[in-house]
Parts: sequence; structure tokens; C-alpha cells
Amino acid sequence: MLKIMKHIRKEMKEVPGNLNKPDIYFEETRRVDNSHCLMPLVALKTNPCRWLATCGGCSMCGYQLAASLSKKPTRNNLINQTKYTIKTVPSSIYPLITFNSAGSFLDPNEISDELRPVLLGMLKKEGYEEFNFECRPEFLLVEKRVSQLKKYFDIVSVGIGLESSNDFIRNECIHKGTQLDTYIKAGKLLNRYNIDYDAYIQLGKPFLTTKEDVEDAVKTAKFAFKHGFTRVFLMLCNIQPTTLTYLLWKRGKFKPPMLWSAIEVLKRLPKEHRSKAYVKGFNRAVPTPLEFPQNCPKCNSQVADKLIHWNLTGDFNHIKTMPKCECIKEFEKKMKDKPKKDLRQRVATIKKYVQKELGLN
Ligand code: SF4
Ligand SMILES: [Zn+2]
Repeated sequence: MLKIMKHIRKEMKEVPGNLNKPDIYFEETRRVDNSHCLMPLVALKTNPCRWLATCGGCSMCGYQLAASLSKKPTRNNLINQTKYTIKTVPSSIYPLITFNSAGSFLDPNEISDELRPVLLGMLKKEGYEEFNFECRPEFLLVEKRVSQLKKYFDIVSVGIGLESSNDFIRNECIHKGTQLDTYIKAGKLLNRYNIDYDAYIQLGKPFLTTKEDVEDAVKTAKFAFKHGFTRVFLMLCNIQPTTLTYLLWKRGKFKPPMLWSAIEVLKRLPKEHRSKAYVKGFNRAVPTPLEFPQNCPKCNSQVADKLIHWNLTGDFNHIKTMPKCECIKEFEKKMKDKPKKDLRQRVATIKKYVQKELGLN
């Protein structure tokens, strides 16, 4: 998989941008205390995610579009990006901020250990109440970096790409390059500093049938809650350029999941966990994808609306009263698909096919 992903990423193109301005998006969200807010999601233009740059990254990830690929952003560039953030999304209007680099906020290759406290200090001085960021688990193991966050903010949370609790699926299908043990170790350290940690769970994994995909997401959510994750975010796979999912999608061998998949996962989650599960990636995604997950033109916006209401309230009535549309039959049919080969054999076959397509044999 490493060889395939590295080859695919050779085509990565940079989106021309100003190194003194980050990308800023907005997301309506529900906080841990159930209050609603509009949260700015800042994507600093930093060096790219190390996993993506050195090993080709995860099979569906388009975060190269958020990074600076050809030029290393300077200390001043990153300070200017933070100043721009403060000016554009002031804390008086947006008390909760998600402040990300192009991969892992605690990776010193993206934000140096010298610069990170400077940026945190600027945000604290502006008065943000709550700080959220994203990070791979291996960068959440250094105590001095983790504890430092709490010196600046009382409320801190981090989103971690867990994707699947199944090692084979996480590393062979998604090419995450992580060990479960690392998530557990990171969780212990985060707990010690009272930092909430949320799991991103991929829904719409390449190589899996719809049924396997849904079942794996449910298992992974249960695993996450058992191991102290505060919330889970079901990330519906969309199509980003220069990814394995794009290559398979172009050849008719992969499709983003239907929205019914997310609904099925919510229904299968135990009641006590359900309201802590959010669905993302169906109406807005960073970077903007080539294709979103969808149902059918007849029910897409209605179902998406219900999911937005679900995310904002955690009220299961929005899911129970979901309009039934003809296209649910297509989903039910997909749920009954029985592959002729087991998952490992299927992965091996498709990888061979991809290698051939890429001329890697
Ligand atoms: S999903 Fe996260 S860890 Fe994976 S390549 Fe993208 S930025 Fe890196
Ligand atoms: Zn429909």
C-alpha cells in the first residue's frame, strides 16, 4: 500500500495561496454541554502532514490542499496567519475555535515547539474560551506539549483520526499507519490533563461492502467510547484528488457511502452513546471534494437537513422521522451484498489491479 500511495501522491498539486492567510471555514456544532455554536475551523498553511509527505498518507485524505507544499512557511507567516484569524473570527463572536495545521498541531515539523506557545498566547490574549485541534496519536504522547495547552485554555479538545478499531482495515484499507496502542496511550495522557478527545471514524471505507463498513463503524464507535473518547464523528468519505479513493472512484470501483449508512450506524449505536455521535462530511468538507456522499436527488437535501438537526440537538426523533424514499431500497440491497472472497483476498486483488493501472508491476 505504501508504494501505491506514494506513487499516487506524486501527482499532488499545490493550491496557490497566500502564506499569511489561513483558510477559514465554519461549522454549526453542538458543544459537549449541548449548547450550539458556530465554530470557525482554521486551517493554517503549514508544512504538510508528515505521514502524507513521507508515506503517501491515508487513502482518502485531501489535506495536501490545505498545506504549503513547495515553500516552507516562515515563523512570521504563521504569526501573520494567527493575526488574520483573530481579526477575522474574533473571540467575542466565536468563543470556540478549531485551530489546525495541515495535519497535526503538535507535530513540530508543522508548528515548532518554539512557535506553538507564541500562537497559543496570541489566541489566549484574544480571549477564546475553548480550543480545539486535530492531531495524529503519535504526536499526543509528549507530556510537555500536551500539558502546555492547558496553560493557555481551560477547555481543550482534540480530534484524532481513529478511522477503524480493526488493525487490518485501519492500516491496509485506509493506510493510517497507526497502532491501536498509541491511541490508548495518548488517551491516558490526555485524561491526565483533562483534555477531551474525539474519534474521527471513517464511513465509506474502500474495499469494504456497505454492511462491513457499517458494522465496522459501529464496532469502532463502541471501542472509542470504551476507551474514553468523548465524542465520535462519523466522517462520510468524499472524493478528493490524488487519493486511492479517487483512483478507484474514477474506475467505478468505489463510491462514497449513501447517507443511509450514517443513519444505520446511529440506529445501531447503544442509546447511551448515540447522542455523542455526530455525522460529518455530507454537506461541507475541507477541502471541498469532487463528490459528496449522497442518497438520491429526491431526498438528499431533506435527509441532509435531518442530519444537521441531529448534529445540533442529538434528538433521535430527527432520525426516527427521517422521510422514507425509494432509494432506501438501493441501500438495503447494498447491505445484503455478499462478496465471493474474504476482505483480505479482495484487498489483495484490488491492490494488484491498482498496481497494474499505475504501471507499478
Ligand atoms: S487523514 Fe490526517 S493523518 Fe491521514 S494523511 Fe490526512 S492529514 Fe495525515
Ligand atoms: Zn432518495
